[in-house]
Amino acid sequence: MSEVMNVEEIFGKNVFTLGKMKERLPRNVFKEVKKVMEQGGELSLASADVVAKAMKDWAVENGATHYTHWFQPLTGITAEKHDSFVSHPDEEGKMLMEFSGKELIKGEPDASSFPSGGLRATFEARGYTAWDITSPAFLKEAATGVILCIPTAFCSYKGEALDKKTPLLRSMEAVSEQALRIVRLFGNTEATKVVASVGPEQEYFLVDSKKALQRDDLIYAGRTLFGAPAPKGQELEDHYFGVIRERIGAYMKDLNEELWKLGVTAKTQHNEVAPAQHELAPIYETANIAVDHNQIVMETMKRVAGKHGMRCLLHEKPFAGVNGSGKHNNWSLTTDNGVNMLDPGDTPNENIQFLLVLACIMKAVDRHADLLRQSASDPGNDHRLGANEAPPAIISMFLGEQLEDVVKQLVETGEAHNLIEGGKLETGVSTLPDFEKDATDRNRTSPFAFTGNKFEFRMVGSADSIASPNTTLNAIVAEAFCEAADILEKADNFEMAVHDLIKEYMTKHQRIVFNGDGYSDQWVVEANRRGLPNIKSMVEAAGTITTDKAVKLFEKFGIYTKVELESREEILYENYAKTINIEALTMIEMASKQIVPAVVKYTKELADTVNAVKAAGADAQVQSGLLAKVSEKLAGMQKALEELKEVEAKAAAMEEGKERAFFYRETVMSAMDALRAPADELEMMVDKKVWPFPTYGDLIFEV
Ligand code: ADP
Ligand code: MG
Repeated sequence: MSEVMNVEEIFGKNVFTLGKMKERLPRNVFKEVKKVMEQGGELSLASADVVAKAMKDWAVENGATHYTHWFQPLTGITAEKHDSFVSHPDEEGKMLMEFSGKELIKGEPDASSFPSGGLRATFEARGYTAWDITSPAFLKEAATGVILCIPTAFCSYKGEALDKKTPLLRSMEAVSEQALRIVRLFGNTEATKVVASVGPEQEYFLVDSKKALQRDDLIYAGRTLFGAPAPKGQELEDHYFGVIRERIGAYMKDLNEELWKLGVTAKTQHNEVAPAQHELAPIYETANIAVDHNQIVMETMKRVAGKHGMRCLLHEKPFAGVNGSGKHNNWSLTTDNGVNMLDPGDTPNENIQFLLVLACIMKAVDRHADLLRQSASDPGNDHRLGANEAPPAIISMFLGEQLEDVVKQLVETGEAHNLIEGGKLETGVSTLPDFEKDATDRNRTSPFAFTGNKFEFRMVGSADSIASPNTTLNAIVAEAFCEAADILEKADNFEMAVHDLIKEYMTKHQRIVFNGDGYSDQWVVEANRRGLPNIKSMVEAAGTITTDKAVKLFEKFGIYTKVELESREEILYENYAKTINIEALTMIEMASKQIVPAVVKYTKELADTVNAVKAAGADAQVQSGLLAKVSEKLAGMQKALEELKEVEAKAAAMEEGKERAFFYRETVMSAMDALRAPADELEMMVDKKVWPFPTYGDLIFEV
């Protein structure tokens, strides 16, 4: 038996938890910290000094040599600049490890090279990091040693958000404030805030790193840009929930341990649909912490893979022909006195607060379907959404039979007296128990599905930060709550008013509800008939954040200013163009330096064989036939290569911005597809021994 892991003991070991603060801080300081955490406000500098010292002492006792303000710039990943605790030595040359309250609260990295979308010229490089007291500090153990990581927000000199955390925190406050107005209307006077909770399910691929390192596409782009399908794909569905192989199991065990130490509640693990694809889900928590933890999960997945001689691919579509990876963002709203506003209870048809919340969410999602779609876009996700494996690029809402029926009754008659019940599930085996069935089945194909007491936003990409989807969700729902509360707070007859409002919202926005097969072609036609937006790509989605509608929404709740939105749109275009540029250059490199030379060599071998066979007086038809076919494909590939080089050069010379991003999407991507096709055909024709890098079969079936 292997060593026993004491999970209770290691959980949160590397986190400066509230418990540790309580132990280490004077009572009054601890109380002050807790108050700021719960109610906002600012910690006094004197208290910050005390907290900093306690934090540093704890970190140093656990081996830390450095601290960092850990933040989330608009690159979508995290950033850190390490500072050691080393201070100026005294006269006798003795040095004491130091860390002040000032250093804890505020940092000023020279951060001029992060994307700012024009918010900051390079000569105005100042960017500040500010301690986010609501997300606990933690220790990262890596080859650099132990680093104390302090979660921070990142803003410009003028206070504009340069990161993903600041708007998220703003959106959480907005939705809390508006949701509180709703629960107050129903007599809840105890709640003081409403918390957005999030549980993200993270999909990923694992491949052998020695093989991955032989492929420039995996190194530079994180996905394969060439590759013929293996003889077997996922058609047997034997990988999904299959027995976890030993090598992967050892990885998962280590990964869980590392995550538990960091206070991440890694909960479920299983094999996913595609070969070499897996999933991990933590238990849900406050949106802000869930976002931070998801970043930690992604980073830890990559780091632990390295230790196991593997590479973790988080790209949304690392391999053509098998499923890509997403992230199911489970979201709900709970009051601090424990009421989940998305819990329908046993009789949703009689739960007026729930019906109002549902009606508001229908309104929010219908009105801002474009924004929600945008929040889940990144270059990789363009390969998934609408591609028959992931939800379509059209936003719709799945409510399930029971709720859909309630909505229908309310729309038709203004009343909902009937409730479809789940009934009993009879197994037909006397020794098996009969179950109470859920009233509703699941729908895998819906991008935004109600699942019992939460919504599951299933469109999000696997590599992307979940900050934007949650910022958007919080914002659009805050707006709908606000508008409802504005009406209901003034109503003379609350019961009548709320009844009318639910009916009105549900009638107006029922077009967003769809319970059928979201992957079908009919749905695309039907959605078009309903007037629902079908935004097919990241570049087409980018502009949705600066429409008048979007600016009004985000400015109203102080989540983004118009300038911040405009800069973010610019960054989206830049990010897209840069990503496709790297992919195109990688393809050019692999085609020119690896595939073409390998195939040229192979044609020489074939030609030599043809001559030798002929000289020996035998029939060389097969050999020369093969030579002719390979040569023809090779010529086609060379032509496509020249064309890609040409459009790529043209794109690279264009001015940054929207037009260039669209050129990459429309012209460069097509040229990339045109190059890939003959290359993949050649892969299937030539001797495996001469193929210059590992194939799909090698990569996803031999981990
Ligand atoms: P599923 O059956 O869809 O896989 P699970 O119950 O396993 O659902 O949950 C998937 C994710 O949703 C987990 O991260 C879980 O913690 C999270 N989750 C569960 N309940 C809620 C909730 N009320 N709000 C937000 N997330 C939740
Ligand atoms: Mg789920």
